[in-house]
Amino acid sequence: MPKPKNDDTKSPGICYLVGAGPGDLGLVTLRAKECIEIADVVVYDYLCNSAMLKWAKPDAELIYAGKKSKAHTIPQDELNDLLVAKTREGKVVTRLKGGDPLVFGRGGEEAQELRAAGVRFEFVPGISSSIAGPAYAGIPVTHRACTSQLTIFTGHEDPTKAETSIDYAKIAQADGTKVMLMGVERLEVVTKALREGGAAGKTPVALVRWATTGKQETLTGTLADIAAKASEIDFKAPAVCVIGEVVNLREELNWFETRPLFGKRIVVTRTRSQAGVLSQQLGEMGADVYELPTIRIEKPMNMMQFGECVQDCHKYDWIIFTSPNGVDAFFDLFFKLYHDARAMGGARIAAIGPGTAKKVKEYHLAVDLLPDEYVAESLLKALLEESGSVDNLTFLWVKAEKTRDVIGAGLTEAGGIVDEAIAYRTLPETEDVTGGRQRFLEEGADVITFTSASTVESFLDLKLPLPEKLKIASIGPVTSQTLREHGLYVDIEAEEHDIPGLVKAIRNYFTP
Ligand code: SAH
Repeated sequence: MPKPKNDDTKSPGICYLVGAGPGDLGLVTLRAKECIEIADVVVYDYLCNSAMLKWAKPDAELIYAGKKSKAHTIPQDELNDLLVAKTREGKVVTRLKGGDPLVFGRGGEEAQELRAAGVRFEFVPGISSSIAGPAYAGIPVTHRACTSQLTIFTGHEDPTKAETSIDYAKIAQADGTKVMLMGVERLEVVTKALREGGAAGKTPVALVRWATTGKQETLTGTLADIAAKASEIDFKAPAVCVIGEVVNLREELNWFETRPLFGKRIVVTRTRSQAGVLSQQLGEMGADVYELPTIRIEKPMNMMQFGECVQDCHKYDWIIFTSPNGVDAFFDLFFKLYHDARAMGGARIAAIGPGTAKKVKEYHLAVDLLPDEYVAESLLKALLEESGSVDNLTFLWVKAEKTRDVIGAGLTEAGGIVDEAIAYRTLPETEDVTGGRQRFLEEGADVITFTSASTVESFLDLKLPLPEKLKIASIGPVTSQTLREHGLYVDIEAEEHDIPGLVKAIRNYFTP
């Protein structure tokens, strides 16, 4: 039989065995992101942050390979067959693995199978939890003053092996820091074995669970008492266990767990494409943020009519933008119709708030009018004041399909001529694209954020039960009003009705 080749360049099929990092999305490599973006098939598992799946092509096939309970895990041999089969079909397959694919990640085994089958593969290393976990707990795995050696070992060997092949006495006698993965359930046995092997009972130990995520928890102790401490509070996997003098440095260097919103679970309900900034800013302050998009943006029903409005935009005295989405939809079309920005003519531009204004500026256009308060009433007032009289002035109002009519009605009443350019529609997000709904049901949240009345309504349409202590945060009075109309209590309302304002209000609520 001819030996299988790995360089079958005739087939476009390739399998990337990719490290997905320890959890924090910021710790995913650029190469990993690229592999997700170009993949036809993404196979991921329990330890991968599922937020990275949003980088996949909309039609990519997403396969969940493993759940925490073993019953739902695809057995390794089936998984290998799957990777081979999909790659053979000529597909680009990205196999995501928590941390690094080759640090207790079975990446080597999968690569052997792929090679034996004669299909192409590549390794993409990732940041392993074995180093990132300690770092996020404020523990440097090596430190000149106390260690110059690092041992990484598994506390959970392949269960099909007859007896342990790990020589704990040797590990105990090794100099420096030891990091154990997969060992939480066997903590008692392992710490005992290490002590019997000669390690001092007073050696400092730290357990870091769900390291680098908003759910991170750290428990410290010594080799003598850590197992009892962990079982007392039912400290569960996944956790990294760090053993050695370096653990003491945490007292001085703890940085991640001391941020203002650390440990607060916050839900972001915006559309998938818009959620990023809010999630990122809350995450920056240490919150455990997850996205539960309730609406999505679609093209308007009457694209032709929108096209005509955009085409004629230079004929107006004012163009009014009342959302960042409207700005994008407008300019997407504008630059399809025209290849010269001067086709805008001399129309002046009004924006409802800084988010919308920022979008306009991204297209290198200045905003002539921004109200003091970022609501329709203020914008209307500002337009009326700015123009003295709006009698016979023409306005093109770029808006969503369903919005309050404050601006249109107010300007018309004052004698202005208003054309509505319906730039997009917001529709309920029917699929649980981020897994956020499931998470909300399973884990609840401390805070839920609403950035528009439509997010409130679409969220309530989902009829998800609200956790008892859930706090509700609203971007401003209109959103709050909608919440109250549905009988909900608004705990937090932004003073400045934009994303930084909302983030500030949440922060102040928890750390006044
Ligand atoms: N390839 C992975 C390790 C896979 S083995 C890596 O390089 O990180 C699975 C073990 O990794 C878990 O039992 C746990 O010990 C550790 N682990 C992975 N992600 C973790 C995280 N975010 N926090 C704590 N431990 C983690």
